[in-house]
Amino acid sequence: LNQNLYAALRAAFPADLDLTAIETGDGPGAPLHYTWRDLERGSAMIANLLASLALPPASRVAVQVDKSVEALMLYLAVLRAGHVYLPLNNAYQAAEIEYFVGNAEPAVVVCAPKAFGWVSKIAFQAGTPHVFTLGDDRSGTLLDRASFHGDVQDPVARRADDLAAILYTSGTTGRSKGAMLTHGNLLSNARVLKDYWDWKPGDVLIHALPIFHVHGLFVASHGALLNGSRMIWFAKYDPKAVLARLPEATVFMGVPTLYVRLLGEPGLDRQACRNMRLFISGSAPLLIETFTDWQQRTGHTILERYGMSETVMLTSNPCKAADGERRGGTVGFPLPGVGVRIVDERNLPLPPGEIGNIQVKGPNVFKGYWRMPEKTADEFTDDAWFKTGDVGRFDADGYLSIVGRSKDLIISGGYNVYPAEIEGVLNEMPGVAESAVIGVPHPDFGEAVVAVLVPRPGEPAPEPAAVIAALKGRIANFKVPKQVFVETELPRNAMGKVQKNLLRDRHQGLFA
Ligand code: ATP
Ligand code: MG
Repeated sequence: LNQNLYAALRAAFPADLDLTAIETGDGPGAPLHYTWRDLERGSAMIANLLASLALPPASRVAVQVDKSVEALMLYLAVLRAGHVYLPLNNAYQAAEIEYFVGNAEPAVVVCAPKAFGWVSKIAFQAGTPHVFTLGDDRSGTLLDRASFHGDVQDPVARRADDLAAILYTSGTTGRSKGAMLTHGNLLSNARVLKDYWDWKPGDVLIHALPIFHVHGLFVASHGALLNGSRMIWFAKYDPKAVLARLPEATVFMGVPTLYVRLLGEPGLDRQACRNMRLFISGSAPLLIETFTDWQQRTGHTILERYGMSETVMLTSNPCKAADGERRGGTVGFPLPGVGVRIVDERNLPLPPGEIGNIQVKGPNVFKGYWRMPEKTADEFTDDAWFKTGDVGRFDADGYLSIVGRSKDLIISGGYNVYPAEIEGVLNEMPGVAESAVIGVPHPDFGEAVVAVLVPRPGEPAPEPAAVIAALKGRIANFKVPKQVFVETELPRNAMGKVQKNLLRDRHQGLFA
């Protein structure tokens, strides 16, 4: 049996291939309607073009383009052709592309037509034999060349442990690493989510996430494709435009900032969400406040889940009532088939309630970091658990909470300080919209706790001295920030994750 992921996705297409698979909500020419037949034929033609290049097995196809349906077809085509898809954040500039192309040594690079000048130069210097362009308006050499190829193609035979994609991590904690994911990793996870999130006939997904990352490319796209569900496709995130389409949709996935921005729309109410079945959040922590505001405004409880590039999805709050309630501030239960444990520094399991390192195991866990055998070996225990780098705790009912990343953990005067705990208290204070707590070098304490606050628009900005005084009555002294800064925003990467390393760099000389 061919274990090529595309074969499984294709098998889930509806019998009537003339139904709409994807309708664009923005971008050139919107609304455009793509049928299931269009997806099948378009990806076949690109796959046949790739086959005509006679690339060596497991060649990487690196793609940095604006989001479009054709870009999704290109992903499907790479699966079909049996090569390895390597998506790149479209914000990356020359120095970053040089690193990724040098590191991944792709056989094919696909870039936006407007970037051809500088990307092709980097690619050719790195020895990439083929460079194509793909615009978000169906322009470019990729589709021009593909149009000469047939629209029928049998997916190349792949085994479950053959590579399907290399996803570079978001680079929140340092330089991005290439996570090698197999056809089996992706398919097993997509199947588990289809069942756990109770995908139903007639579901319609609003797809408003970038497709260079796990969340938009795998969780969202695979979810809809494997359920034969229509997608309403947004290349850019505009909360007004998304709100206008909510009444037609049943499923929405977003990073927390997408929810915050939707809450800023006065029209967001129960009526707008009347047909919605499920709101899913992940990639970064969802503030409790967003969770409860959302409940009040829409009557829906956001389902928060947890995953990473290396593992696709790991845990999820329940979808079906029979599986339990959705608890804000937690990321729910391990998904069926996924092992999750909390351990101490010696990799010994800890009981519920205790904070420790999160380690995971399962058919979804990646094969390793691309060309980093030592790093890969370091990140697995002797008994093959993957060290996520996240720190968390199970409660007595089995819900997992993430308290931060081990790299963000602060050790001050010998005490462990978990940033998420202090951020939770700060975020509840009047005038505070959000916060980030970091550790910076300190001659006496090793590290000192420092907080950065973002004031709530339209309210008086919090006064640092008053914040510190208020904290002193509420949390242990060693957790109280030595200094509090008020800044207009927190540095975030494309996935909305707070880049604490940048904050640490900014404040590292404070106590020197
Ligand atoms: P890098 O590994 O390069 O530093 P990154 O870890 O941010 O970057 P991703 O693989 O995109 O790269 O993100 C995975 C991380 O995102 C997880 O390890 C976790 O820290 C965080 N994350 C994902 N979902 C959630 C969630 N629901 N709540 C809190 N954190 C989350
Ligand atoms: Mg990571």
